[in-house]
Amino acid sequence: DPMSERVGVAIVGLGRIAVEEMLPAFAESKHAKPVALVSGDRAKALKIARQYNILDTAILDYKEYDRLAQMPEVQGVYIALPNSMHAEYTVRAARAGKHVLCEKPMANTVAECQQMIDACKKAGKKLMIAYRSQYEPMDRALVRMVKDKKLGALKEFSSVNSQNMGDPQHWRLKRALAGGGALPDVGLYCINAARFLSGEEPVEVIGNTWSTPGDARFREVEESCQFILRFPSGFIASCSTSYAAHKSQFFRLNGADAWAEMDPAYAYHGLKLKVSRVVDGKEQAADMQIEEKNQFAAELDHFAQCVQQNKDVHTPGEEGLQDQRIIEAIYESARTHRPVRL
Ligand code: NDP
Repeated sequence: DPMSERVGVAIVGLGRIAVEEMLPAFAESKHAKPVALVSGDRAKALKIARQYNILDTAILDYKEYDRLAQMPEVQGVYIALPNSMHAEYTVRAARAGKHVLCEKPMANTVAECQQMIDACKKAGKKLMIAYRSQYEPMDRALVRMVKDKKLGALKEFSSVNSQNMGDPQHWRLKRALAGGGALPDVGLYCINAARFLSGEEPVEVIGNTWSTPGDARFREVEESCQFILRFPSGFIASCSTSYAAHKSQFFRLNGADAWAEMDPAYAYHGLKLKVSRVVDGKEQAADMQIEEKNQFAAELDHFAQCVQQNKDVHTPGEEGLQDQRIIEAIYESARTHRPVRL
Protein backbone atom coordinates (compact mmCIF):
# COMPACT_ATOMS: atom_id res chain seq x y z
CA ASP A 1 0.00 0.00 0.00
CA PRO A 2 1.13 3.59 -0.44
CA MET A 3 2.14 5.18 2.88
CA SER A 4 -1.09 7.19 3.08
CA GLU A 5 -3.18 3.99 3.12
CA ARG A 6 -1.10 2.04 5.60
CA VAL A 7 -2.40 1.31 9.07
CA GLY A 8 -0.80 3.71 11.57
CA VAL A 9 0.55 1.96 14.64
CA ALA A 10 1.63 3.35 18.02
CA ILE A 11 4.48 1.39 19.61
CA VAL A 12 3.87 1.07 23.35
CA GLY A 13 7.04 0.39 25.38
CA LEU A 14 10.42 0.85 23.72
CA GLY A 15 12.25 -2.21 25.01
CA ARG A 16 14.19 -4.90 23.22
CA ILE A 17 11.45 -6.52 21.19
CA ALA A 18 10.02 -3.20 20.04
CA VAL A 19 13.31 -1.52 19.20
CA GLU A 20 15.37 -4.45 17.93
CA GLU A 21 12.72 -6.48 16.10
CA MET A 22 9.35 -4.80 15.54
CA LEU A 23 10.42 -1.26 14.55
CA PRO A 24 13.00 -2.51 12.02
CA ALA A 25 10.35 -4.93 10.65
CA PHE A 26 8.23 -1.99 9.48
CA ALA A 27 10.78 -1.60 6.66
CA GLU A 28 9.61 -5.00 5.34
CA SER A 29 5.93 -4.39 6.04
CA LYS A 30 3.60 -3.52 3.17
CA HIS A 31 0.54 -2.44 5.10
CA ALA A 32 1.62 -0.80 8.38
CA LYS A 33 3.63 2.22 9.44
CA PRO A 34 4.84 3.42 12.86
CA VAL A 35 3.23 6.79 13.65
CA ALA A 36 3.49 7.22 17.43
CA LEU A 37 5.60 6.10 20.39
CA VAL A 38 4.58 5.57 24.01
CA SER A 39 7.50 5.47 26.43
CA GLY A 40 8.60 6.43 29.93
CA ASP A 41 11.96 7.52 28.52
CA ARG A 42 11.51 10.67 26.45
CA ALA A 43 15.17 10.99 25.38
CA LYS A 44 15.14 7.43 24.01
CA ALA A 45 11.79 8.03 22.32
CA LEU A 46 13.01 11.23 20.65
CA LYS A 47 16.00 9.40 19.20
CA ILE A 48 13.84 6.58 17.87
CA ALA A 49 11.26 9.03 16.53
CA ARG A 50 13.96 10.71 14.39
CA GLN A 51 15.07 7.34 13.06
CA TYR A 52 11.56 6.40 11.94
CA ASN A 53 10.26 9.84 10.90
CA ILE A 54 7.75 9.98 13.73
CA LEU A 55 6.69 13.46 14.84
CA ASP A 56 7.86 14.64 18.28
CA THR A 57 4.22 15.54 18.96
CA ALA A 58 3.36 11.84 18.55
CA ILE A 59 5.49 10.80 21.54
CA LEU A 60 3.43 10.12 24.66
CA ASP A 61 4.36 8.95 28.13
CA TYR A 62 2.24 6.43 30.01
CA LYS A 63 0.20 9.11 31.81
CA GLU A 64 -0.75 10.68 28.48
CA TYR A 65 -1.69 7.33 26.90
CA ASP A 66 -5.42 8.04 26.72
CA ARG A 67 -4.68 10.97 24.42
CA LEU A 68 -4.44 8.34 21.70
CA ALA A 69 -8.20 8.85 21.41
CA GLN A 70 -7.47 12.28 19.88
CA MET A 71 -4.91 10.89 17.40
CA PRO A 72 -6.82 9.64 14.35
CA GLU A 73 -3.57 8.78 12.56
CA VAL A 74 -3.15 5.97 15.12
CA GLN A 75 -5.42 3.07 14.15
CA GLY A 76 -3.73 0.36 16.17
CA VAL A 77 -1.31 -0.08 19.06
CA TYR A 78 1.48 -2.64 19.47
CA ILE A 79 1.91 -3.41 23.15
CA ALA A 80 5.44 -4.48 24.07
CA LEU A 81 5.37 -3.83 27.81
CA PRO A 82 6.12 -6.20 30.72
CA ASN A 83 3.42 -8.91 30.90
CA SER A 84 1.58 -7.45 33.90
CA MET A 85 0.87 -4.24 31.94
CA HIS A 86 -0.67 -5.90 28.86
CA ALA A 87 -4.21 -5.99 30.24
CA GLU A 88 -4.38 -2.37 31.38
CA TYR A 89 -2.83 -0.96 28.19
CA THR A 90 -5.04 -3.13 25.97
CA VAL A 91 -8.22 -2.09 27.77
CA ARG A 92 -7.25 1.59 27.65
CA ALA A 93 -6.38 1.33 23.94
CA ALA A 94 -9.77 -0.22 23.18
CA ARG A 95 -11.47 2.59 25.12
CA ALA A 96 -9.49 5.09 23.03
CA GLY A 97 -10.91 3.41 19.93
CA LYS A 98 -7.74 1.59 18.81
CA HIS A 99 -7.15 -1.93 17.50
CA VAL A 100 -4.62 -3.90 19.56
CA LEU A 101 -1.67 -6.12 18.68
CA CYS A 102 -0.46 -7.34 22.06
CA GLU A 103 2.74 -9.25 22.80
CA LYS A 104 2.69 -12.71 24.31
CA PRO A 105 2.00 -13.86 26.98
CA MET A 106 -1.37 -12.16 26.64
CA ALA A 107 -1.56 -11.36 30.38
CA ASN A 108 -0.84 -12.87 33.78
CA THR A 109 -4.24 -14.39 34.53
CA VAL A 110 -7.25 -15.86 32.75
CA ALA A 111 -9.37 -13.10 34.30
CA GLU A 112 -7.19 -10.39 32.74
CA CYS A 113 -7.35 -12.14 29.35
CA GLN A 114 -11.13 -12.13 29.56
CA GLN A 115 -11.19 -8.41 30.45
CA MET A 116 -9.06 -7.66 27.39
CA ILE A 117 -11.34 -9.67 25.10
CA ASP A 118 -14.45 -8.03 26.56
CA ALA A 119 -13.04 -4.48 26.26
CA CYS A 120 -12.05 -4.94 22.60
CA LYS A 121 -15.37 -6.58 21.76
CA LYS A 122 -17.28 -3.75 23.41
CA ALA A 123 -15.28 -1.15 21.50
CA GLY A 124 -15.64 -3.08 18.24
CA LYS A 125 -11.84 -3.28 17.89
CA LYS A 126 -9.55 -6.16 16.87
CA LEU A 127 -7.42 -7.90 19.47
CA MET A 128 -4.53 -9.94 18.13
CA ILE A 129 -1.88 -11.71 20.22
CA ALA A 130 1.62 -11.61 18.73
CA TYR A 131 2.19 -15.34 18.14
CA ARG A 132 4.79 -14.72 15.42
CA SER A 133 5.42 -18.45 14.76
CA GLN A 134 1.91 -18.75 13.40
CA TYR A 135 2.74 -16.22 10.66
CA GLU A 136 6.10 -17.79 9.76
CA PRO A 137 6.38 -19.80 6.50
CA MET A 138 7.98 -23.01 7.86
CA ASP A 139 5.48 -23.45 10.65
CA ARG A 140 2.71 -22.75 8.16
CA ALA A 141 4.08 -25.34 5.73
CA LEU A 142 4.16 -27.86 8.58
CA VAL A 143 0.55 -27.09 9.52
CA ARG A 144 -0.40 -27.84 5.91
CA MET A 145 1.59 -31.09 5.92
CA VAL A 146 -0.23 -32.20 9.06
CA LYS A 147 -3.61 -31.32 7.53
CA ASP A 148 -2.68 -33.23 4.36
CA LYS A 149 -1.82 -36.25 6.59
CA LYS A 150 1.81 -36.27 5.39
CA LEU A 151 2.98 -37.36 8.85
CA GLY A 152 0.09 -39.74 9.44
CA ALA A 153 -1.83 -39.53 12.72
CA LEU A 154 0.05 -37.28 15.15
CA LYS A 155 1.44 -39.11 18.15
CA GLU A 156 4.25 -37.20 19.87
CA PHE A 157 5.41 -33.61 20.18
CA SER A 158 8.68 -33.20 22.10
CA SER A 159 9.98 -29.71 22.63
CA VAL A 160 12.48 -27.68 24.63
CA ASN A 161 12.54 -23.90 24.81
CA SER A 162 15.19 -22.71 27.23
CA GLN A 163 17.54 -19.82 27.81
CA ASN A 164 19.93 -18.65 30.50
CA MET A 165 18.81 -15.47 32.28
CA GLY A 166 21.60 -13.17 33.42
CA ASP A 167 20.41 -10.17 35.42
CA PRO A 168 18.67 -11.23 38.68
CA GLN A 169 16.97 -7.80 38.81
CA HIS A 170 15.21 -8.21 35.45
CA TRP A 171 11.40 -7.76 35.45
CA ARG A 172 11.07 -11.27 33.97
CA LEU A 173 12.19 -12.65 37.36
CA LYS A 174 9.65 -10.58 39.37
CA ARG A 175 6.36 -12.38 39.84
CA ALA A 176 4.22 -9.24 39.89
CA LEU A 177 5.53 -8.08 36.50
CA ALA A 178 6.13 -11.40 34.73
CA GLY A 179 3.34 -13.59 36.14
CA GLY A 180 5.68 -16.59 36.31
CA GLY A 181 9.11 -17.72 35.19
CA ALA A 182 10.18 -19.79 32.20
CA LEU A 183 6.69 -21.21 31.57
CA PRO A 184 4.68 -18.14 30.50
CA ASP A 185 7.66 -16.51 28.76
CA VAL A 186 9.35 -19.25 26.74
CA GLY A 187 7.50 -22.47 27.63
CA LEU A 188 4.46 -20.78 26.11
CA TYR A 189 5.94 -21.30 22.62
CA CYS A 190 5.84 -25.09 23.15
CA ILE A 191 2.21 -24.98 24.33
CA ASN A 192 1.12 -22.81 21.43
CA ALA A 193 3.04 -24.89 18.85
CA ALA A 194 1.57 -28.18 20.11
CA ARG A 195 -1.89 -26.65 19.69
CA PHE A 196 -1.54 -24.91 16.35
CA LEU A 197 0.44 -27.68 14.67
CA SER A 198 -2.08 -30.34 15.69
CA GLY A 199 -5.19 -28.18 15.49
CA GLU A 200 -6.31 -29.91 18.69
CA GLU A 201 -6.97 -28.70 22.23
CA PRO A 202 -5.55 -30.56 25.24
CA VAL A 203 -7.94 -32.17 27.70
CA GLU A 204 -5.48 -32.86 30.51
CA VAL A 205 -2.13 -31.54 31.71
CA ILE A 206 0.58 -32.77 34.06
CA GLY A 207 3.12 -30.22 35.27
CA ASN A 208 6.23 -29.93 37.38
CA THR A 209 8.23 -26.85 38.32
CA TRP A 210 11.74 -26.68 39.73
CA SER A 211 14.22 -24.04 40.84
CA THR A 212 17.79 -24.76 41.93
CA PRO A 213 17.93 -24.10 45.68
CA GLY A 214 19.85 -20.93 46.53
CA ASP A 215 19.89 -19.49 42.98
CA ALA A 216 19.12 -15.79 43.61
CA ARG A 217 17.42 -15.44 40.23
CA PHE A 218 14.57 -17.74 41.18
CA ARG A 219 13.28 -16.39 44.49
CA GLU A 220 9.93 -15.38 42.96
CA VAL A 221 9.46 -17.38 39.75
CA GLU A 222 10.26 -20.90 38.61
CA GLU A 223 13.54 -21.70 36.91
CA SER A 224 12.17 -24.59 34.93
CA CYS A 225 8.98 -26.40 34.11
CA GLN A 226 8.27 -29.77 32.55
CA PHE A 227 4.80 -30.56 31.31
CA ILE A 228 2.70 -33.03 29.40
CA LEU A 229 -0.39 -32.07 27.41
CA ARG A 230 -2.77 -34.90 26.55
CA PHE A 231 -4.96 -34.43 23.47
CA PRO A 232 -8.19 -36.32 22.70
CA SER A 233 -6.90 -38.07 19.54
CA GLY A 234 -4.08 -39.78 21.43
CA PHE A 235 -1.54 -37.09 20.56
CA ILE A 236 0.80 -36.22 23.47
CA ALA A 237 3.07 -33.19 23.93
CA SER A 238 5.96 -33.40 26.39
CA CYS A 239 7.86 -30.18 26.88
CA SER A 240 10.59 -28.68 29.00
CA THR A 241 11.48 -25.04 29.53
CA SER A 242 14.25 -23.44 31.59
CA TYR A 243 15.57 -20.01 32.47
CA ALA A 244 18.99 -21.35 33.56
CA ALA A 245 20.08 -23.49 30.64
CA HIS A 246 22.01 -22.72 27.48
CA LYS A 247 19.76 -21.48 24.66
CA SER A 248 17.98 -24.45 23.18
CA GLN A 249 14.79 -24.21 21.15
CA PHE A 250 13.56 -27.16 19.14
CA PHE A 251 10.68 -29.52 18.59
CA ARG A 252 10.08 -32.84 16.95
CA LEU A 253 6.56 -33.63 15.80
CA ASN A 254 6.20 -37.36 15.31
CA GLY A 255 3.33 -38.91 13.43
CA ALA A 256 2.58 -42.56 12.71
CA ASP A 257 4.29 -42.30 9.29
CA ALA A 258 6.93 -39.54 9.48
CA TRP A 259 8.48 -36.92 11.73
CA ALA A 260 9.19 -33.23 11.31
CA GLU A 261 11.78 -31.39 13.30
CA MET A 262 12.50 -27.70 13.71
CA ASP A 263 15.82 -26.68 15.25
CA PRO A 264 15.88 -23.85 15.94
CA ALA A 265 12.10 -23.70 16.17
CA TYR A 266 11.30 -20.53 18.10
CA ALA A 267 14.15 -18.21 17.06
CA TYR A 268 13.61 -14.88 15.30
CA HIS A 269 15.75 -15.88 12.31
CA GLY A 270 17.46 -18.92 10.77
CA LEU A 271 14.74 -21.50 11.37
CA LYS A 272 15.26 -24.98 9.95
CA LEU A 273 12.66 -27.63 9.16
CA LYS A 274 13.61 -31.22 8.49
CA VAL A 275 11.27 -34.07 7.60
CA SER A 276 12.03 -37.78 7.76
CA ARG A 277 9.99 -40.57 6.26
CA VAL A 278 10.41 -43.97 4.64
CA VAL A 279 10.95 -43.74 0.88
CA ASP A 280 11.37 -47.02 -1.09
CA GLY A 281 11.88 -48.94 2.12
CA LYS A 282 14.57 -46.58 3.42
CA GLU A 283 14.35 -43.82 6.03
CA GLN A 284 15.18 -40.51 4.37
CA ALA A 285 15.55 -37.21 6.17
CA ALA A 286 15.61 -33.99 4.17
CA ASP A 287 15.73 -30.29 4.96
CA MET A 288 12.70 -28.50 3.56
CA GLN A 289 13.69 -25.63 1.30
CA ILE A 290 11.33 -22.88 2.39
CA GLU A 291 12.27 -19.27 2.03
CA GLU A 292 12.53 -17.41 5.30
CA LYS A 293 10.42 -14.28 5.85
CA ASN A 294 10.61 -11.67 8.58
CA GLN A 295 8.15 -13.07 11.14
CA PHE A 296 7.51 -9.69 12.71
CA ALA A 297 6.66 -8.08 9.35
CA ALA A 298 4.38 -11.01 8.46
CA GLU A 299 2.57 -10.69 11.79
CA LEU A 300 2.29 -6.92 11.47
CA ASP A 301 0.90 -7.14 7.93
CA HIS A 302 -1.70 -9.69 8.98
CA PHE A 303 -2.83 -7.32 11.72
CA ALA A 304 -2.87 -4.33 9.36
CA GLN A 305 -4.80 -6.18 6.64
CA CYS A 306 -7.40 -7.41 9.11
CA VAL A 307 -7.87 -3.78 10.18
CA GLN A 308 -8.04 -2.51 6.59
CA GLN A 309 -10.43 -5.23 5.41
CA ASN A 310 -12.29 -5.68 8.70
CA LYS A 311 -11.41 -9.40 8.85
CA ASP A 312 -10.99 -11.67 11.86
CA VAL A 313 -7.40 -12.07 13.04
CA HIS A 314 -5.80 -15.54 12.99
CA THR A 315 -4.53 -15.31 16.60
CA PRO A 316 -7.23 -13.42 18.52
CA GLY A 317 -7.52 -12.84 22.27
CA GLU A 318 -9.20 -16.23 22.63
CA GLU A 319 -5.94 -17.86 21.49
CA GLY A 320 -4.01 -16.14 24.29
CA LEU A 321 -6.76 -16.93 26.79
CA GLN A 322 -6.59 -20.65 25.95
CA ASP A 323 -2.80 -20.73 26.47
CA GLN A 324 -3.25 -18.91 29.79
CA ARG A 325 -5.82 -21.51 30.90
CA ILE A 326 -3.26 -24.22 30.10
CA ILE A 327 -0.49 -22.34 31.95
CA GLU A 328 -2.69 -22.05 35.06
CA ALA A 329 -3.56 -25.78 34.82
CA ILE A 330 0.15 -26.69 34.57
CA TYR A 331 0.91 -24.63 37.70
CA GLU A 332 -2.02 -26.21 39.51
CA SER A 333 -0.77 -29.67 38.58
CA ALA A 334 2.75 -28.79 39.77
CA ARG A 335 1.32 -27.53 43.08
CA THR A 336 -0.99 -30.47 43.71
CA HIS A 337 1.17 -33.21 42.15
CA ARG A 338 -1.90 -34.36 40.21
CA PRO A 339 -3.04 -34.29 36.58
CA VAL A 340 -5.46 -31.43 35.92
CA ARG A 341 -8.39 -31.70 33.49
CA LEU A 342 -9.14 -28.76 31.25
P1 NDP B 1 12.12 -5.08 27.80
O1 NDP B 1 12.39 -5.11 29.25
O2 NDP B 1 13.29 -5.04 26.88
O3 NDP B 1 11.19 -3.82 27.44
C1 NDP B 1 10.02 -3.52 28.12
C2 NDP B 1 9.76 -2.02 28.01
O4 NDP B 1 8.54 -1.73 28.68
C3 NDP B 1 10.80 -1.14 28.65
O5 NDP B 1 11.87 -0.85 27.80
C4 NDP B 1 10.02 0.10 28.99
O6 NDP B 1 9.94 0.91 27.84
C5 NDP B 1 8.61 -0.42 29.24
N1 NDP B 1 8.27 -0.49 30.67
C6 NDP B 1 7.26 0.22 31.26
N2 NDP B 1 7.20 -0.06 32.56
C7 NDP B 1 8.20 -0.93 32.83
C8 NDP B 1 8.65 -1.56 34.02
N3 NDP B 1 8.05 -1.38 35.22
N4 NDP B 1 9.73 -2.38 33.95
C9 NDP B 1 10.33 -2.61 32.78
N5 NDP B 1 9.93 -2.04 31.63
C10 NDP B 1 8.88 -1.20 31.64
O7 NDP B 1 11.19 -6.31 27.47
P2 NDP B 1 10.99 -7.08 26.09
O8 NDP B 1 10.97 -6.14 24.97
O9 NDP B 1 11.92 -8.23 26.02
O10 NDP B 1 9.51 -7.70 26.32
C11 NDP B 1 8.35 -6.90 26.22
C12 NDP B 1 7.15 -7.82 25.95
O11 NDP B 1 7.34 -8.45 24.70
C13 NDP B 1 6.96 -8.93 26.96
O12 NDP B 1 5.59 -9.16 27.17
C14 NDP B 1 7.59 -10.14 26.29
O13 NDP B 1 7.03 -11.37 26.71
C15 NDP B 1 7.29 -9.86 24.84
N6 NDP B 1 8.31 -10.44 23.96
C16 NDP B 1 7.90 -11.15 22.86
C17 NDP B 1 8.81 -11.71 22.02
C18 NDP B 1 8.37 -12.41 20.80
O14 NDP B 1 9.19 -12.99 20.12
N7 NDP B 1 7.11 -12.37 20.45
C19 NDP B 1 10.26 -11.64 22.30
C20 NDP B 1 10.59 -10.82 23.42
C21 NDP B 1 9.63 -10.27 24.22
P3 NDP B 1 10.18 2.51 27.91
O15 NDP B 1 11.55 2.68 28.43
O16 NDP B 1 9.99 2.93 26.51
O17 NDP B 1 9.11 3.03 28.84
